[in-house]
Amino acid sequence: MLVCETQECWTQFLEYVKDRCSATAFGNWLAPIMVKEGAEDEITLEVPNIFVQEYLLSNYHKELCMFLPVHEDGSPAVNFEIKAPKKEPIPMPANLPKTVPPPSPPTNFYEVKLNHRYKFSSFIEGASNQFIKSAAIGVADRPGKSYNPLFIHGGVGLGKTHILHSIGHHIADNQKNMRIQMITTEGFINDLVDNLRRKTVDKMKRFYRSEIDVLLIDDIQFLQNRLNFEEEFCILLDHYANNGKQVVLTCDKPPSQLKLSERMKARMEWGLVAHMGVPDLETRVAIMKHKAEQKGLDLPNEIAFFIAEHLYNNVRQLEGAVNRLNAHCRLLNTQITRDLVVNTMGEMFQQSPKNLITVEQVLKSVATIFQVRVSDLKSATRTKSVAIARQVAMYLAKMLVNDSLMSLGVYFNKTHSTILHACKTIEQKIKEDEMLKRQIDLVKRNLEC
Ligand code: ADP
Ligand code: MG
Repeated sequence: MLVCETQECWTQFLEYVKDRCSATAFGNWLAPIMVKEGAEDEITLEVPNIFVQEYLLSNYHKELCMFLPVHEDGSPAVNFEIKAPKKEPIPMPANLPKTVPPPSPPTNFYEVKLNHRYKFSSFIEGASNQFIKSAAIGVADRPGKSYNPLFIHGGVGLGKTHILHSIGHHIADNQKNMRIQMITTEGFINDLVDNLRRKTVDKMKRFYRSEIDVLLIDDIQFLQNRLNFEEEFCILLDHYANNGKQVVLTCDKPPSQLKLSERMKARMEWGLVAHMGVPDLETRVAIMKHKAEQKGLDLPNEIAFFIAEHLYNNVRQLEGAVNRLNAHCRLLNTQITRDLVVNTMGEMFQQSPKNLITVEQVLKSVATIFQVRVSDLKSATRTKSVAIARQVAMYLAKMLVNDSLMSLGVYFNKTHSTILHACKTIEQKIKEDEMLKRQIDLVKRNLEC
């Protein structure tokens, strides 16, 4: 293999692993490696120090074998040369040893590698998550300059971690100079404990303050029972905010519901707090179709709808369903039918689809009882009869539909505070207006039977 050909293999290797590790790890460990020589059956790489060589061999053995020549025993046929250190500007005293110790290894604090599957391009958008996706793209386009911090909260398995990694990828792809660190709260705390024990905590603090531009923190709810570490996080958030560095946090609840100090909650509410809702039926179907397509599984629409009607509050379960079906179809070489679905995942189903109520059903039922058109309910018409019917529809949708305020807002083309206002108004009105109460009961009965 010639040098230029080897160079190409090495570039391909770098491109492959770049998608699978953080920008910081890539910049620290892999980018400084150069191709020195290339032959058909082995290559020589120039590394800045022995640590980089060991890091490469122990972390990327499999990938090296995929892209570079291999020995007969299956190990990568790679030689290493340590790059000669730059000449010291100050002359060395004659009695000192000539050899220069290798530079200290790059800082290696806890971090999570960005998952190459979690990118904006593979995140399916719908009313429940459109707002978050736009906010996340806004942050990723201009880190530290739009919403800071961005706080994403929502239930389990709805895509919070996916969005967090997507932000990391987007910045790494478009702003190569930005140093990104992706951590989980638990991992960070464990690292902090470890560094306290080893008396290297100052180094760790320096690292987070001066070597990172974008900090992505997953699952901040785990800080709740670790109050000794709250102060450290608070100082960190202050530092990032004061220096225009971006922080993104995910959590299973909004800041106001966290059992943390008011100061910490205030820090987290400084920027934008955004709720990740449960995807509506069409989005759930689109997600399943996308996941099936990625696996090469032909999932008929009718079946996707059938499953999505039953599994409705956790995208991870939808993914699990696709995986199960895929395994069954491949092992048994069968077609996907409703019966197969019921037999293989009936126990995963949460509720009879009959009990699921959609916004469209609420609108239709309200329109019938209040004698207006569905299109009026969605429009900005302000005539009294339509306005009341619209408020009733919002009130019932919030009560009966398993969806976030944000996505209900999208249906009605209104903000979530307008929906809340409508709910309060109707709650008040039904206390005084018996006729209205009866009409609403009728709509509810129609919907629930
Ligand atoms: P959370 O962090 O909210 O618990 P995750 O981000 O881990 O959820 O998402 C669980 C799984 O569901 C992941 O595999 C993720 O890719 C997938 N997922 C969630 N939402 C979406 C979406 N809108 N489009 C595509 N995949 C999604
Ligand atoms: Mg998560």
